[in-house]
Amino acid sequence: MRAPGAPIIASKAAGETVLTSALVVQAPPAPSVAVAGTDDRFPVHRIYCVGRNYREHVKEMGGDPAREPPIFFTKPADAVVPSGAGVAYPPRTSNLHHEIELVVAIGRGGSNIPVDSALEHVFGYAVGNDLTRRDLQAEARKRGAPWDTAKGFDASAPITSIRRADDIGHVASGRIWLEVNGELRQQADVVEMIWSVPEVIAELSTYFALAPGDLVFTGTPAGVGPLLPGDLVAGGVDGIGTLQHGVVAT
Ligand code: MN
Repeated sequence: MRAPGAPIIASKAAGETVLTSALVVQAPPAPSVAVAGTDDRFPVHRIYCVGRNYREHVKEMGGDPAREPPIFFTKPADAVVPSGAGVAYPPRTSNLHHEIELVVAIGRGGSNIPVDSALEHVFGYAVGNDLTRRDLQAEARKRGAPWDTAKGFDASAPITSIRRADDIGHVASGRIWLEVNGELRQQADVVEMIWSVPEVIAELSTYFALAPGDLVFTGTPAGVGPLLPGDLVAGGVDGIGTLQHGVVAT
């Protein structure tokens, strides 16, 4: 017999259960990203990010790309902000940085995915800005503390609509760039990534079970720098699209 107050679990399908109890607070909105050229939306499950994936960026951060392989960190799914929006200058920082990145949208999940078949798990590609509180990141690195406050804050993941791989193919090269108020700050080619897209997916899937709806920010090239209230950011990857957003004073 069910204990008083215990949730009612109803069998839905083999291996799957569903809670039929009332929710005690309002359910959070389900974050999603537009799919280019359609009215469809891509539901965001998790946001994974790769750090230190371009040699020149590792060097500008004071690291040695020969000794420090890329790393993974995460942002909350609801950090996504659509292109064209204004991003409020976040609290608790005086050094907000831009990081333009190729983003991979996962359409099929899996664990321990082989490099050779990794692209079969890709739904499409977008362009994102891995907004970073650089001062908090520097402090965290010094203390050996987590990066969450530096990377995983509200509205920290502006992103374009997603282009379907079925439409544009897979992205192994192409100019990646970012301008602030029309001034070029970052420019490289995604072919320069230390871990390619298939290698990122394969490696990431050994740590986490990837699922449909996951987004993977694949790292930023050199040229990261500060954003100020009033700035207009534009950035892109050839063949995918252009991300635009403002930075709004708070
Ligand atoms: Mn980044």
